[in-house]
Amino acid sequence: MTFEKIKLFLEKIAPLVGVDENQLTIIATPNKILEAELEVNGKKYPAYRVQHNNSRGPYKGGIRYHPGVDLDEVQSLAFWMSLKTAVADVPLGGGKGGITVNPKELSNDELQELSRQWVRAFYKHIGPTKDIPAPDVYTTPQMMAWMMDEYETLIGEKAPGVITGKPLAVGGSLVRDIATALGGVYVLEEAVGKINLIEKTVAIQGFGNAGMNAAKLLVEHGYKIVAVSDSKGGIYNASGLDIDSVIKTKSETKSVVNYADAEKVSNEEILKLGVSVLVPSALENVITVENAAEIKAKIILELANGPTTPEADEILHQNGVLVLPDILANAGGVTVSYFEWVQNNTGLYWKADEVKERLKEKMVVAFDKIWAEYSGKEYDFRTATYILAIKKILEAEKVRGRV
Ligand code: NAD
Repeated sequence: MTFEKIKLFLEKIAPLVGVDENQLTIIATPNKILEAELEVNGKKYPAYRVQHNNSRGPYKGGIRYHPGVDLDEVQSLAFWMSLKTAVADVPLGGGKGGITVNPKELSNDELQELSRQWVRAFYKHIGPTKDIPAPDVYTTPQMMAWMMDEYETLIGEKAPGVITGKPLAVGGSLVRDIATALGGVYVLEEAVGKINLIEKTVAIQGFGNAGMNAAKLLVEHGYKIVAVSDSKGGIYNASGLDIDSVIKTKSETKSVVNYADAEKVSNEEILKLGVSVLVPSALENVITVENAAEIKAKIILELANGPTTPEADEILHQNGVLVLPDILANAGGVTVSYFEWVQNNTGLYWKADEVKERLKEKMVVAFDKIWAEYSGKEYDFRTATYILAIKKILEAEKVRGRV
């Protein structure tokens, strides 16, 4: 979604939150926009950090490496992070970063250089009490380790809390690798209970950190995954896919499409399959006016950020589809990032079960609060989620005397 569209959406829900124009401007406008041009082996790459809102704590949000990255996208993602940290009720604000690059075209050494350059460009603006980046699309724990190393070299001291999503060897948290998907599963289980969903068939678009881990965890929770996809296309088997074999195929051949025991489907077709749960886990704006009416799922679990356009949302709402919005559905990632930061700051590291238990509690409490706001209302679940998040940010702005 473009940032303009976000503003239009905010204007629409402003009366429901009771905010005036001045307050709305504060919520929508990023505090700081940072841009740089990085250069590796003679090629130039635009780089960004948008610091959206820090009224509730240091800015927090991932760094995306993708050819489609631009300022508008990073700004939208930064805004969503402010809402997401409010929904998850972690004491952090919202920010986002990115580099316009196709990382698949760079060697490992070039990626390391690019990651270190990102830090050299922005290091004065980040830090454990200022702004804490993390991984996002096509960025990895390894890149977070390079970035932390560069930051510590520049400031001349240890600062593991500057970045999250790190490998365990340098202060990462157990469970962080599966946190986004696990948080999503906890939320989905609550929703399934509320609407008494009996049939549990699932289609997942995107098979990276979010999508692949969701597939694994959903199988463990008794769901049947009938379709998955990645950037090369999708696969479908009505009797259910053997997810371990699909993961093996993906790791050996780089794509799920080479999995033998399934029909091929396109990334568009996967959205319209006759499943009860649809899990968009790739990129933005995939559910649109063009396909929303054809979606048959009863629940959409938005592990991706911004997969549904506002126009599509209206159609889904009319058709009774329950959309569990990104800022709730994928908030498990930032929640365990917060746990990682807490562990880095205290020097005390938690067991996996402790992290999972704390994550479940956060996700269930967040879901319950939103469900209470949503029940019996005309508006959809996303609107209820935004109302709660915006109220929370406004409260922090107000007690600080900024509005
Ligand atoms: P990733 O890089 O690990 O995986 C991305 C996946 O999407 C890959 O399987 C890739 O093949 C696939 N993909 C790319 N282009 C596609 C296309 N056009 N159609 C279908 N699939 C395509 O990224 P990720 O971390 O899994 O992130 C996926 C989404 O989840 C993003 O929207 C991201 O912002 C969101 N998210 C991730 C986290 C996290 O902790 N990883 C947290 C919050 C939100």
